[in-house]
Amino acid sequence: QSQELSQVRIDYHAALQALVEDGTRMVCTGRMHTDRICRFESLCYSTEAEEFVFFHSNASIMLPNLGSRRFQPALLDLSSVEDHNTQYFNFVELPAAALKFMPKPVFVPDVALIVNRFNPDNLMHVFHDDLLPIFYTMQQFPDLDLETRLFFMEGWGEGLHFELYKLLSNKQPLLREQLKTLGRLLCFTKSYVGLSKITTWYQYGFVQPQGPKANILVSGNEIRQFTKFMMEKLNVSFEGMPSEDYIVVFSRTINRLILNEAELILALAQEFQMKTITISIEDHTFSDLVRLISNASMLVSMHGAQLVMSLFLPRGATVVELFPYAINPEHYTPYKTLATLPGMDLQYIAWQNMEKENSVTYPDRPWDQGGIAHLDKGEQDRIIKSTEVPRHLCCRNPEWLFRIYQDTKINIASLTQLIRQTVKTKPGPKRQKWTSGLYPGKVRDAKCQASVQGTSEAKLSVSWQIPWNLKYLKVREVKYEVWIQEQGENTYMPYILSHQNHTFSDNIKPFTNYLVWIRCIFNKNLLGPFADVLLCST
Ligand code: UDP
Repeated sequence: QSQELSQVRIDYHAALQALVEDGTRMVCTGRMHTDRICRFESLCYSTEAEEFVFFHSNASIMLPNLGSRRFQPALLDLSSVEDHNTQYFNFVELPAAALKFMPKPVFVPDVALIVNRFNPDNLMHVFHDDLLPIFYTMQQFPDLDLETRLFFMEGWGEGLHFELYKLLSNKQPLLREQLKTLGRLLCFTKSYVGLSKITTWYQYGFVQPQGPKANILVSGNEIRQFTKFMMEKLNVSFEGMPSEDYIVVFSRTINRLILNEAELILALAQEFQMKTITISIEDHTFSDLVRLISNASMLVSMHGAQLVMSLFLPRGATVVELFPYAINPEHYTPYKTLATLPGMDLQYIAWQNMEKENSVTYPDRPWDQGGIAHLDKGEQDRIIKSTEVPRHLCCRNPEWLFRIYQDTKINIASLTQLIRQTVKTKPGPKRQKWTSGLYPGKVRDAKCQASVQGTSEAKLSVSWQIPWNLKYLKVREVKYEVWIQEQGENTYMPYILSHQNHTFSDNIKPFTNYLVWIRCIFNKNLLGPFADVLLCST
């Protein structure tokens, strides 16, 4: 940090002059507050007002210039959680001339990434809302290299997993509280504000019950690029690791317990003839957790944030998620969605306790640990009698909390049987080379030729060339889909063909215009784009 101060001294007069003359300059990407990230020069922050400040001068830039729409509801989301009203970013505007009357600005020389963490004490939130989005926001802008300074503005302390955030850049991240110690008016020489949501796969149920995001844009490849980076930074070493396959049981030690964990571990080891080990956040360093998970054949755990660690599993591994009594696994799928992202190549199994007598409830605990003693008697009775928690919004539904914080005695026979149904052979990482799903290009040089026989019959011969990229690929099966549409009609006749030409005669009329659409299909489900439509007249 002494380096920071000396730099500040060297540049101070020039920086101050630039701020006064040029003011703040902002250019953003994104069309709405939910997909916007802004790049600033000379964005300032008043630690007394706890507000960002935009200084206007003749040279300042504000794009987009939204006018009062900047408050409807905000300029942008500061966290990766979409449109959450506690996570909005905005600034206050002032003329640069006002600087004369303000505290002397302290300049931040590092390129800054300014964001909110959403819930830094919960591992799922840490990875899904913060680490992955920060990592890929940094990939989006070349200025954001390993010398980036992260600023966490949500106002929390370091939180339980600060060590993970520290891996993302070489500079110590700064928290909102710490800014006060730097000065009354901070000015970021160059900064980016906001987080990319492109890697997030889950919405937590603030406006509709929780579930996978509607438009998931991330695949296993990007997840693994991130985990590879994290593993390098964590110095995860595989020296002295067993070369045999093994199963990991990720246990919770405080609540939502597996009551017969020892029995479960023995049973898994016996059933799959594999070494089985237990890990927990409380008893292992992060580096150890990652090392053990990244080589495991199977990860077994109660539903809970620790399961986000399946993003470190090797391809081909199996995730077994255990759900307490009355919790429908279909309604809570952050880890299922992760495991089944395209290219994650994980097998996913959900097991639910169906036997009430195998469950231990905690009605007398505080509400946030599932207690229901604060509710009226009728409501308590209803919850206790209910056999399934109805779908609900986040985050304080007492019936959900009551059920999700149950401890469970696992019915070993039902669990092993369920795993056996899905994992036919010995579970284990796929070591085969990854044959990824690459899509065909357009077919080329499409042509048609018509011939008319008499007044009622006609034929249409259509031919085309293979997509250009096919000659560089090994593809198991290449097919073509051809749609024939009579001009002006809404319907069309679809054909799936194996060759590059075909003569159509069914339902082809003479003296008619047809539109012919052709696309290539690799391996049954990789659909390419349609080539430019071909107009054929019989
Ligand atoms: N946690 C844990 N062991 C426990 C209980 C919780 O490691 O016995 C972790 C959990 O993985 C999460 C955080 O503590 O990172 C908060 O847990 P909580 O039950 O609030 O959230 P959930 O796991 O249901 O998302």
